[in-house]
Amino acid sequence: MRFEQAQRLKNLSPYLFARVERLIEEKKAAGVDIISLGIGDPDQPTPDHIIEELVKEARNPANHQYPSSVGMLCYRQAVASWYARRFGVQLNPETEVVALIGSKEGIAHISWCYLNPGDTVLVPDPGYPVYAGGAILAGAVPYYMPLKAERGYLPDLASIPTEVARRAKMIFINYPNNPTGAVADEAFFAEVVAFAREFNVLVCHDAAYTEIAFDGYRAPSFLQVPGAKEVGIEFGSVSKPFNMTGWRIGWAAGCPEVIEALGRLKSNLDSGQFQAIQYAAMAGLNGSQEVINRVNELYRERRDILVEGLNSLGWKLEKPKATFYIWAPVPTGYTSESFAELVLERTGVVITPGTGYGANGEGYFRISLTVDTARLREAVERLKSNLGPVKF
Ligand SMILES: *Cc1c(COP(=O)(O)O)cnc(C)c1O
Repeated sequence: MRFEQAQRLKNLSPYLFARVERLIEEKKAAGVDIISLGIGDPDQPTPDHIIEELVKEARNPANHQYPSSVGMLCYRQAVASWYARRFGVQLNPETEVVALIGSKEGIAHISWCYLNPGDTVLVPDPGYPVYAGGAILAGAVPYYMPLKAERGYLPDLASIPTEVARRAKMIFINYPNNPTGAVADEAFFAEVVAFAREFNVLVCHDAAYTEIAFDGYRAPSFLQVPGAKEVGIEFGSVSKPFNMTGWRIGWAAGCPEVIEALGRLKSNLDSGQFQAIQYAAMAGLNGSQEVINRVNELYRERRDILVEGLNSLGWKLEKPKATFYIWAPVPTGYTSESFAELVLERTGVVITPGTGYGANGEGYFRISLTVDTARLREAVERLKSNLGPVKF
């Protein structure tokens, strides 16, 4: 039997790091102690009060039936109250918030609500691969907006050709940014609102990392900018702030017409998230935010070890204000992939080639700070003794 795959699936890019993955397997088989700085998944456990809430609600038979696909009203109220406290943004929980099975789910599905085959969508490059992936599955064509160091990794909206901007139906943005660790201010968001108004483009802001920030920096919400709610939505998640990536719960908030469309699509695809998990996420949002400060203090310490370690080897990195990523240039004479292979070969440390996040990631690599300080120090020591100084 041979089953012909749908074109939309064939259009998805194939596996990216085949060579590096093969090398990792070889090293492991040879008994090398691999330190993986590749995966952006918090290593700390979910806080106890959230787990307790799950256990309690899991025992309640009222939660054992199908939930609503748009989320319980009390969950959407908790998201709205959190927005009011955290950002001073007022949201109507009935019309301006929809629960998601992790924000990735909504990011992938929003394209199905607004993109027809052949439509244009503006996607950051480098960027989280789900923006382009969801759009390609819907048959749309991404137009990649380069994120450049000299612009602080903000897209240059003015350089998008007018005919592309006119054609575009949606724009994805993401600050604090994965993979670059860059942040955006309200002035940039205001520019995006003006652009969206001029060209009638729906803005989808991925706010997964607003809570992961250091040195007193507080990331803004796109929705706190005047007019934002008329032109777009924001995706949020408990995954990163509360170490809940495995629990699969998030939200989209903003423009009611768009929230309704996403909710209607979802009601045809899924039956929502287990209510006990919605209650657990509410415990995180409604409870003390001190747990976030604690985890941020951990990432800050790790960031300092890594940035200071790399700088002692010849890099000139600034410490990122937010996210748990370090985005750094590869030394002269290497590509993203050849440098990742060299580092793995010589030190057993896994870094992610920047090209995994788009063509403009060439010349960079990403390090994730989701391993403990002892292992990070060990990684820095191995780089110092086996890689030697590097040139740029
Ligand atoms: C981790 C991540 C998400 C989504 O996480 P969920 O667990 O699906 O809520 C979304 N965007 C970016 C950029 C991420 O890194």
